[in-house]
Amino acid sequence: MRRIYLDHAATTPVHPEVARAMAPYFSKDFGNPSTLYSYGREAKGALEEAREKVARLIGAKHPEEIVFTSGGTEADNFALSGIAWANEKKGNHIITTSIEHHAVINVCKFLEKRGFEVTYLSVDKYGLVDPLELKRAITNKTVLISVMHANNEIGTVEPIEKIAEIAREKGIYFHTDAVQTLGHIPIDVEKMEVDLLAMSAHKLYGPKGVGALYIRKGTKIVPFLYGGEQENKRRASTENVPGIVGFGEACSLAQKDMAEEVKDLTYLRDKLIQGILGEIKNSRLNGHREKRLPGNVNVSVEGAEGESMLLQLDLAGICASSGSACTSSILEPSHVLTAIGLSPEVSHSSLRFTLGKENTAEDIDYVLKVLPEIVERLRSMSPIYQKDK
Ligand code: PLP
Repeated sequence: MRRIYLDHAATTPVHPEVARAMAPYFSKDFGNPSTLYSYGREAKGALEEAREKVARLIGAKHPEEIVFTSGGTEADNFALSGIAWANEKKGNHIITTSIEHHAVINVCKFLEKRGFEVTYLSVDKYGLVDPLELKRAITNKTVLISVMHANNEIGTVEPIEKIAEIAREKGIYFHTDAVQTLGHIPIDVEKMEVDLLAMSAHKLYGPKGVGALYIRKGTKIVPFLYGGEQENKRRASTENVPGIVGFGEACSLAQKDMAEEVKDLTYLRDKLIQGILGEIKNSRLNGHREKRLPGNVNVSVEGAEGESMLLQLDLAGICASSGSACTSSILEPSHVLTAIGLSPEVSHSSLRFTLGKENTAEDIDYVLKVLPEIVERLRSMSPIYQKDK
């Protein structure tokens, strides 16, 4: 059966060139980068080369501003708790948004239990943060602002430059979760003026279990893991050399292919959006029409339950998601869809398709053939959906 993968925001396949670059570091070049003999030196060299590649993709001035982590979750945790604990004498207030990934929200919840105050900014119906509301939320106790670069569910790209400008004016650290944007839209930490930026390799055709936190030089932060002196004493534990090498390679490939990919994915995305809205009555697009990730389509389809649509799509060989992959085992309405004002019922009838490198116009045609039939079938079985609405 034909299989079409449309869940690239959950994870991406490792690019063959990435896998090739990683392979020697599992066997032949297996050294520990902290050792002084040749095996170790070679591994250390590979690590530093990867660091330069990641730094280049995000425009970091100094490669040592990149600290490798076990993924996006650790990078977010490190940023939030590291800044909170290092600056607690200055203040105990953090500002974030109600649509962050749980990797940010749940650290904030933990910090609240430890005496920090957290403001969760609301967003408008497109999922956009209002920089003026942010400005108003700042107090003389605010030590950190954390606003994601783009949302993983609805794909909305936030006004990061404006937010960073406000943070800079007030002398407050600014962190952004760029897990969904790295390698997909341009990032320049110097132009964006961010102090911390979280990344993950498996969202850009790199391996799972590796990521990084960009930490601007001079930022006051305490480590997240204590132990050895790896990563300039900022992140203990023997480095995941094959993973980091793969991450570096994925960043180089993304840098080379980004412009082309943005063009291709935007075309396919718009074809899918127009097709769904045109073919399926009482469907709506979630997120912003233009300020959105090139590969993200999130729709709500009245009268058809998200999980049922997913199962039917799966039977037709199509992999999608009904909200965030990280929470899709919990059948609660997505906090992001709720935050943009959808009722629990409409949230439960939402689907997310996230497109990637290997998708084609034929894949989209196939979805546009299969999905309306599925919706029609589910609606005909629904005791509450009125057909002639
Ligand atoms: N932040 C965002 C926006 C994400 O989409 C994800 C993963 O889906 C994460 C953080 C967590 O990244 P990781 O899976 O590498 O821990």
